[in-house]
Amino acid sequence: MLSKVNLLKVLKIIDEMYPNAKGELNAKTPFQLLIAVILSAQTTDKAVNQVTPALFRDYSTPEALANADVEDVMGKIARIGLYKNKSRNIIQTARMIHQDFNDDIPQTHEALESLPGVGRKTANVVLGDAFGIPGIAVDTHVERVSKRLRVVKQSATVKEVEAALMQKIPKSRWVLTHHQLILFGRYHCTAKRPKCDICPVFSFCGEGKKIMLAYHDRSK
Ligand code: SF4
Repeated sequence: MLSKVNLLKVLKIIDEMYPNAKGELNAKTPFQLLIAVILSAQTTDKAVNQVTPALFRDYSTPEALANADVEDVMGKIARIGLYKNKSRNIIQTARMIHQDFNDDIPQTHEALESLPGVGRKTANVVLGDAFGIPGIAVDTHVERVSKRLRVVKQSATVKEVEAALMQKIPKSRWVLTHHQLILFGRYHCTAKRPKCDICPVFSFCGEGKKIMLAYHDRSK
């Protein structure tokens, strides 16, 4: 397993790769961020950024979206996966924020996770990016990178990955690390054909050698 000391050395190298890492979803308000993050489940941020301008042009506030026609919302976000369920979820979420939270986005895990379509990962992103409340949201990239680096064992659950990262990384950099690991996983330590041959953290990585050998054998 990767020790705390070596994990911090890895993060120092990743700091140089992605010094200004931040979320790639476009949003002007905490409400818009919440909606964009809900829409991003099992879809790329790029795809979400293509549909949100039209959505937020007509429904930029909780009240506006709460009163939206579901068919119209579906039409606006039809290019992204699971758009029917997501349309219902964001309208219902907007209704709850408008009626139960007085148009304010809640700032606790419990309240956020009571909203349709909002799980722990979404809540962490909103709390960190909209309100500066530290957390480490574990998405598919963060999970994969953490397992390849052996911060946790392969069988670890998402909750265990989050707990291990929070235990080994100073709180002051949780939000930054979350964004850096996403970029590292999205563009470098990719699910298929990770760039192990040019990876600056190769010497710390528990999986790099194995992955390189596997791809080498396949190309024979
Ligand atoms: S060596 Fe390969 S698997 Fe390990 S972190 Fe680098 S890219 Fe990812």
